[in-house]
Amino acid sequence: MKNIVNKIEALKEEVKIIETKKNHKFFLSEMKRIGIERLPYSYTSLKRFIDPETMDVHYNKHYKGYVEKLNLALDKKKFGDLDLEQVVKTISRFNQEVRNNAGGAYNHALFWKMLSPNPQKPKGLILKKIETQFGTIGGFKKKFDEVAKERFGSGWVWLVVTKNNSLKIMSTPNQDNPLMNDIKDGGYPILGLDLWEHAYYLKYRNKRDEYIKNFWDAVNWDFVEKLYKMKIGTRIDEEVVMSQLMNSSNAEILTEEETKSQSCSTTEEQMFKTLLFPPTDLLEKSDQYGKFKKEYIMGWMDVLQKAYPENWKNKDSLFKGHEAGLYSKENVRSLLMNLTSSYTAFCIIHKDVNEYLKKNNQNVITYGDNPNTNLLELRKFFSILHGLRSNIFKRGEQSNTLRQIGGVLKKTDCLGKRNEEATMKIINQNYGEGACKIVSGGGYTKDMLSGIDATITMDGQEHTSQIKPFKNIFEKDGYFVVQGSSSTQSYNKVSLLIFVNVKSKQVRIYKTPKIRIQQGSYYIPKENMVSTIFAKGELDLIDCNKYLSENIIWE
Ligand code: MN
Repeated sequence: MKNIVNKIEALKEEVKIIETKKNHKFFLSEMKRIGIERLPYSYTSLKRFIDPETMDVHYNKHYKGYVEKLNLALDKKKFGDLDLEQVVKTISRFNQEVRNNAGGAYNHALFWKMLSPNPQKPKGLILKKIETQFGTIGGFKKKFDEVAKERFGSGWVWLVVTKNNSLKIMSTPNQDNPLMNDIKDGGYPILGLDLWEHAYYLKYRNKRDEYIKNFWDAVNWDFVEKLYKMKIGTRIDEEVVMSQLMNSSNAEILTEEETKSQSCSTTEEQMFKTLLFPPTDLLEKSDQYGKFKKEYIMGWMDVLQKAYPENWKNKDSLFKGHEAGLYSKENVRSLLMNLTSSYTAFCIIHKDVNEYLKKNNQNVITYGDNPNTNLLELRKFFSILHGLRSNIFKRGEQSNTLRQIGGVLKKTDCLGKRNEEATMKIINQNYGEGACKIVSGGGYTKDMLSGIDATITMDGQEHTSQIKPFKNIFEKDGYFVVQGSSSTQSYNKVSLLIFVNVKSKQVRIYKTPKIRIQQGSYYIPKENMVSTIFAKGELDLIDCNKYLSENIIWE
């Protein structure tokens, strides 16, 4: 009997895991699959421009057909999981079948939104820009009509924003789009008109000119202006943000107010720390606790890759030892990648996302004691972040969040380097010049899960090591108890664990076997002790406080 009860319990557990996995798929991949854009109005509402029958067939048969065939073609080739815009932007690596259907899906998705049931007039920034470049709206329409009429056979006519932020009218054949990377002198489309016969033939027959003329009664100028603003805004900010984040010497100094708004309470920090760096006792209880950090890292990679596709590099396109991530042209890895291991950044971004949820009367993200629920909350967090990513990551000037995170990451990075530098100097003073070599730095990445910080040569033997700061060390029941050491990464793959305290200019070296972490402290068997050494004289270290004011809790 007991056996059966146990079995049922085990099965229930299995079902729970499957449910969790299902949810995962839903949250993380739903946005990646290429979906159908909803038609923002009824088939009858554009009558001035196009008849309901054409709208119905155009939307349900032609457009949906492109999306379906595209998903099939991507799936067949195992491309999977891509943004439609990314496919279009990198179209040269796909075959003709993907090209036609991705273009068809993307062009139409845009086109539906570019039309409005209510007559609109251009205004604001876009009107100004059109008048500057084309003289008058009439002059612009005339030019647009001309280019449209010149298109022989099937295709599209577009108004695009070019690389140097000017407007241009152009036309593309078939289902090509000006964003496609092999289109000469393309651009970012902000207005487009379908010139295929299927778009107008039922109503206009061979009178394509009349169809083009009536188009102007149905243009959604609000949307056009939004696209225009987004594009010129994004382009400026992308450059600002990337240069800020790529170059850590370009320190961002935050005002006191900004520092206050970003700081998390000690309780919040403690909770995030436990989630990201679960102590050994929790990990032994259930391996679910360990999944959180891995999923957090993967989630960020996904968001960053989408936010800055042009700066993303895969492992195989980089030198050995580099990890996939955001890189500058000079192959300098962005500090943004350290987001994945900073619990303060974790705290800041959660505050932001929750503020957004509150504003929209939705449940905020909360974490508790149940690792399964925590994982579900984390997935919700990323699904929201995907939606907000263009606000947070593309508009540097408006995104306080990104500035704050940038400051935090720069200071973390600086403190890490300072600890390593101090350790190296103290070891070299005691064991001889060259005894300690720092492995990380110089664009090389610390592998987050099994990182080596330095190699130490002692008695002719080379050891690998991880370096961590500490606050206090005391002896208890045959163990050294190390307190106040943050970021408890896995240290199983190195032979030495080194603790440094910059204030007391002290370094403690231990072997790694049988070390335990409990309640945030390391428990190191006494026999693991290798040495305790002190600096001989001044260390002359970098000052990291220029990055942030001091009232932020750092370890
Ligand atoms: Mn069409």
